[in-house]
Amino acid sequence: RPPRSTLFPYTTLFRSSRSNDTSVSQKLKQQDTINHLISALQTTIILDELVPLFSNELLKAVDHIGVIFENPELGIVFQHGSRTNHSCEYSLTIENNSLGKLTFMRRQRFTESELNTIEQFLSVLLYPLKNTLLYSQAIQFAHTDPLTGVLNRSTLRSVFQKEVSLTKRHHSDLSLIMLDLDFFKTINDRYGHCAGDTALKDVTQCIEKTLRESDYIFRLGGEEFAILLNDTDLKGAELIAERLRTAIESLSILHDDTQFQLTASMGITQYKENDSLGVIMSRSDNALYKAKDSGRNKVVCA
Ligand code: GH3
Ligand code: MG
Ligand code: MG
Repeated sequence: RPPRSTLFPYTTLFRSSRSNDTSVSQKLKQQDTINHLISALQTTIILDELVPLFSNELLKAVDHIGVIFENPELGIVFQHGSRTNHSCEYSLTIENNSLGKLTFMRRQRFTESELNTIEQFLSVLLYPLKNTLLYSQAIQFAHTDPLTGVLNRSTLRSVFQKEVSLTKRHHSDLSLIMLDLDFFKTINDRYGHCAGDTALKDVTQCIEKTLRESDYIFRLGGEEFAILLNDTDLKGAELIAERLRTAIESLSILHDDTQFQLTASMGITQYKENDSLGVIMSRSDNALYKAKDSGRNKVVCA
């Protein structure tokens, strides 16, 4: 089925009116369901709650077993329930701004009257969904470094705490790499601050490409990064750090017409029971200083 676009003002919801008793009572029941939906959607601005809530309200009128919400611009794919072969897909728009795509799934085809009901429900979802997306964008900005797009320093604490509890629960390992670019001041002095910014972006992309998706990269400030590797012991972290070191060393940075290269030094440590963030950071920081002291472009384990 081709995507259906929805942009309904609330006022068009109950346009059809046939005046016999059944349609009046049906209309009242429908109005009741919609009123309930409106109140329910006001109870959250968190997307992971809004989509299931909407799906549960819709279940009262249209049977389905799964819903997927996608917004590629915000990097959101949220699935509630299961995927099936029959689906109907809606591109959601408000005032020409795309909110994303919502797909409903079940084993049988949706009837025309069910699709009309879904569309009525969707018209109520649009504004709460818009607010939810604005909120999730604000949260995303608060956690992200604007220049490189990786996580910022203030997010390290909460991610570290979450990863420590997962590590304990699964009896696995966790390692931390502190990475600092070598002689970065010279890069700025020689090629200009904009070239330095390009280098920071290129190095970040290079780190992202070299790591697994489950790893976390934080820009701590300036030209210093922290990398949290879950399910990785010191030996594994050393291999990854060495791979990062050679990848950065081979990177050719192009800014305007200038091409240049740089290197990075790294200090690594593995999480030990009861390590606080401060303790583990200072251990890998000490290793980083040893890497700098022993000539840079080096990986040192604590
Ligand atoms: P070392 O090898 O000892 O780490 O030397 P370094 O020059 O890299 O270290 P230093 O701490 O002396 O200099 C860091 C430089 O990073 C200084 C600062 O101008 C630059 N820097 C910090 N933040 C940014 C940024 O956002 N953009 C650019 N272009 N430069 C930055
Ligand atoms: Mg440096
Ligand atoms: Mg530094």
